[in-house]
Amino acid sequence: MTAVRELKLTPIQNGTVIDHIGNGLALEVLRILGIERIQQSSTVSIAIHVPSQKIGWKDIIKVENMELSARKLNAIALVAPTATISIIREQRVREKRPVALPDRIDGVLHCPNPGCITNQREPVESEFEVVRRKPIVLRCAYCGRLVDDFLAQLA
Ligand SMILES: [Zn+2]
Repeated sequence: MTAVRELKLTPIQNGTVIDHIGNGLALEVLRILGIERIQQSSTVSIAIHVPSQKIGWKDIIKVENMELSARKLNAIALVAPTATISIIREQRVREKRPVALPDRIDGVLHCPNPGCITNQREPVESEFEVVRRKPIVLRCAYCGRLVDDFLAQLA
């Protein structure tokens, strides 16, 4: 039996822990969080290449004083579908759940079709339907373009 080392990041008082992020995807998740929008008083801890019994290797991000909007959660579900989200309040885990992809995703991605109405001057918000879940494939509700590469299309 191999003992799995458990990495202890500094516990946080209030905030969000994003665990079980696929190996090497922490920086993409950080991009979704918008590091420039995180308050300066909030400590952000990132662990990359942590051994995981569940998924082999994983990344972990802890952000103090931040709870994630539904849009950010949807974006994380696209980029890091194995991630789990824990909400910490007063040092206790108040809620822990895997990210979940809804059937429709609004405003999270740009449509890759330059002719799509959502890319015109018209302020039309993008809207995608989930047409497959493993691997994830989305379809633009306006022009029908299929998307399976999400990093490049994040809004
Ligand atoms: Zn489109």
